[in-house]
Amino acid sequence: MRATPSGAQQRVLDAIDRLEPAYRRLLQTLVRIPSQAREEETEAQALVSEHMREIGLTVDSFDVDVQALKHLAAFNPSPRNYAGRPCVVGRRPGTGGGRSLLLNAHIDTVPVETPDAWAHPPFGGAIEDGRLYGRGACDDKAGIVECLLVAHAIKDAAVELEGDLTVASVIEDETTGNGSLACVERGYTADGVIIVDGTWPERFIVSHMGHVSFRIRLTGIAGHATSGGPNPIAAVGMVEEALRKFVERRNAEHAQHWGAKENPIFINLGMVHGGVWPGSVPGECVLEGQYGFPPPGSCESAKQELRDLLATVAHRSDWPLRAAPSIEFVGLETPPEVGDPANPIAQLLSATVRRLRGATLQESVIVGHCDLRHYTRARERPTTAACLYGPGGGRNVHGADEYFELAHLRLVAGNLAGVALEWCGVTRDR
Ligand SMILES: [Zn+2]
Repeated sequence: MRATPSGAQQRVLDAIDRLEPAYRRLLQTLVRIPSQAREEETEAQALVSEHMREIGLTVDSFDVDVQALKHLAAFNPSPRNYAGRPCVVGRRPGTGGGRSLLLNAHIDTVPVETPDAWAHPPFGGAIEDGRLYGRGACDDKAGIVECLLVAHAIKDAAVELEGDLTVASVIEDETTGNGSLACVERGYTADGVIIVDGTWPERFIVSHMGHVSFRIRLTGIAGHATSGGPNPIAAVGMVEEALRKFVERRNAEHAQHWGAKENPIFINLGMVHGGVWPGSVPGECVLEGQYGFPPPGSCESAKQELRDLLATVAHRSDWPLRAAPSIEFVGLETPPEVGDPANPIAQLLSATVRRLRGATLQESVIVGHCDLRHYTRARERPTTAACLYGPGGGRNVHGADEYFELAHLRLVAGNLAGVALEWCGVTRDR
């Protein structure tokens, strides 16, 4: 059953409808500004920060401070330079007495690998059949745009919240999670947190698998093409096979499933580099990838499994190299996150979706990862009232022709605004 929204809620929903065309354009503009997670986020974050000021938010734009974070277990070392790639936090202080709400979305995107494989240019922001195409359109610039739309609509509707509303546009969700960590360490936590990233309008997420990123180094002896090696590239197939069989074994041993996903344990080899010249035997070949594992595994146990596996590979009689492969763990690392789907913010979200849309919200668990952990495990004011919701539908995330279903912009923003009003409380409802 769909209930009639209160006066304040109706005004906010009306404001979202009024503002929506401008926010479609904002999403298009943001997609046209590349912010690939390779030190490219500056311009996009400048636009977000300027927009936050225009809609009356108090803005704090700050760089990730490695010195202040590096001793924390949740910090993931990064080879990148953080200067001039800020996190941007906008706040609308409440009138007092209500619960605070924080909306988080990430501005960084994964890189475009093969632009020619895109029918719509990755930074063109083309709109066709209600879909907006581009790298980051769905993951997660639509999330940024929805958070801003919620804050703007509440202001335009002249609704005063009792609790503070905070919107965080973070960097490095895709690579390290250090952007959200920096926000949390700077004090930007709240009684309730919604990460607007990675779900369709009828789903929410409180749990994800654990991930460790690794770099495997195969060492040969550099020399002329006719020197006979040992050639590290000759060992790549063996390592790949060992990793693949390990994953098959792990999934089979435990009859694993993670939510609806069968055989969820995975190892993805995402990068391989070795050699400089066709006529030379390379001195080294490096494989980089990620290992995803469900609970009760920990990052430490996952790393040990990989170390043990590689030690056995080098014992094969046909191992072509003199040295065993070495492995180091760099980049993204997160333990599995297991949240309570009945936590207060997830419950309120479900009730809001039922009330406003007459729809039932389903819990979904993800094989991927997100920044939820930084809020549920914050050193100061952690909250279990946290979930992922929005920005809505789309496809080809991380692939060619990523797109976002534009119809979900106002739908999800309306649901988020409904939660904000109920969670934070409304001071005066005219
Ligand atoms: Zn994302």
